[in-house]
Amino acid sequence: MIVATGKSILKGIAIGKIKFLKKEQAKISDTAGDAAAELQRFEDAKALAVEQLQALYDKAVVEAGEDHAAIFEIHMMMLDDDDYIDSITEIINSQGKSAEYAVKTTGENFAETFASMDDEYMKARAADVKDISTRVVNILTGADTGLADSDEPFIIVAEDLAPSETVQLDKSKLLGFVTHLGSTNSHTAILARNMNIPALIGTDISEAWDGKLAIIDGYNDCIYIEPTADLLETLDKKRVYDLQQRALLQELKKKPNITLDGTEINVYANIGNVSDVGMVLQNDAGGIGLFRSEFIYLHSETFPTEDEQFAIYKRVAEMMGGKKVIIRTLDIGADKQADYFNLPKEENPALGYRAIRICLTRHDIFKAQLRAILRASAYGTVSIMFPMIISVREVLDAKEVLEECRQELIAEGVKLGEVEIGIMIETPAAVMLAEELAAEVQFFSIGTNDLTQYTLAIDRQNPKLDPFYDSHHPAVLRMIEQTIKAGHKHDCWVGICGELGADTSLTETFLRMGIDELSVNPGSVLNVRKTIRSLDLSK
Ligand code: PEP
Ligand code: MG
Repeated sequence: MIVATGKSILKGIAIGKIKFLKKEQAKISDTAGDAAAELQRFEDAKALAVEQLQALYDKAVVEAGEDHAAIFEIHMMMLDDDDYIDSITEIINSQGKSAEYAVKTTGENFAETFASMDDEYMKARAADVKDISTRVVNILTGADTGLADSDEPFIIVAEDLAPSETVQLDKSKLLGFVTHLGSTNSHTAILARNMNIPALIGTDISEAWDGKLAIIDGYNDCIYIEPTADLLETLDKKRVYDLQQRALLQELKKKPNITLDGTEINVYANIGNVSDVGMVLQNDAGGIGLFRSEFIYLHSETFPTEDEQFAIYKRVAEMMGGKKVIIRTLDIGADKQADYFNLPKEENPALGYRAIRICLTRHDIFKAQLRAILRASAYGTVSIMFPMIISVREVLDAKEVLEECRQELIAEGVKLGEVEIGIMIETPAAVMLAEELAAEVQFFSIGTNDLTQYTLAIDRQNPKLDPFYDSHHPAVLRMIEQTIKAGHKHDCWVGICGELGADTSLTETFLRMGIDELSVNPGSVLNVRKTIRSLDLSK
């Protein structure tokens, strides 16, 4: 038995076989001896890539519909493009290079050309040509992305997991994950909490664990590889006990979130996808306090259209049966990257071109989303929330674009519902301007993950800084209190949707500050309810 330690993200036990995620960098040798042989290798790899894309197309048609699947058709067409093939052939024939070198170089050259075009559609093709070239290079070099489907449940072990990778995992089979890199405040850690699965970060992992039976012990911050029969029996009992405890919490369903002395607040849940709504309903959340809509973009190979987004928002609104659904507009950037946005590499992405900054400069992207949300508002109780706000000007500009969309839809005769408008308070600037901002919106939702990062000047992605990332820091708590006071002065309700909302050691503090809503991962809703119901604020 091997024991490796790490930092636990969620207290719990997971037992299953390990799937080691290899992210091999393709090894590209640039020269090759025989041009004819290299051309044949390219032809064979291309044929296999087309076969893979056809299989992906067939799967996507069934699972997501033809619109979503169309991207794989485009990829197949690109692979057959004469200019693309001519360039590869030329590099192999006249420069004596290997097939993989020729494909990689052609992919990069074409991507650069597409990216420099004015037409937005053509610009977006840069990511596609990179994608198909990587597929062919991986086939030629035997590199494996390791994200292939699996039949049985598994524990993922990986060097790191980016949000763009986690969206590719089959969540129904994911028991837990263990990574070497990653921080407790990263979106990958948030995913583990949202899914209620044990996860460890900062662990010295080994590829030799692949396929072996393991136990993640989230209580003791470790993973056991090939555990002894005794340990397996003990920890399996603990796992079953946890399930029973969770079942006990179910008795709190349908009960109000009210303290012993009568203070009642809303407890909502955070989601990233339609598939999370099941957990929200199962745990009896009063609404959705944060729909991280950027995950729709991360799931997609290209910009999701207005109609595609409308179908998703409508479904969520309908599934929630009239309960509040707060959709946060696109918060892409920083650690959440989708290739087709072609965002430039930045020195400080957390302080960079992201979220509302992209939306206010790319009205085409912003309007498609706003129109989709407004259209969905006719099917439930939908609210809109803007992220990363730092000024009143931004709120006014965002509201202006929203109003433009509303007028367009009215002119088109589309039925719309009432939509509350709110903003995330996740920058110190927003806290300082909270009174002015409160006059412009109906609600605030405090994003404690970023508010802590920006207040303490600590990169939430950097695991080395975890010991310094103190979300109980008095500066953060005072900012929360200040925001609540400023909001209430202007009839603006105030919630918390960052991870701190689920921290039951602070529930009493937040209630005493006057918080109106806590939006937490679905698995924490009943636990927060239990805490609220045990408090007596009159004492
Ligand atoms: C936050 O910053 O607290 C938040 C809820 O948003 P995200 O974690 O998606 O940045
Ligand atoms: Mg945030």
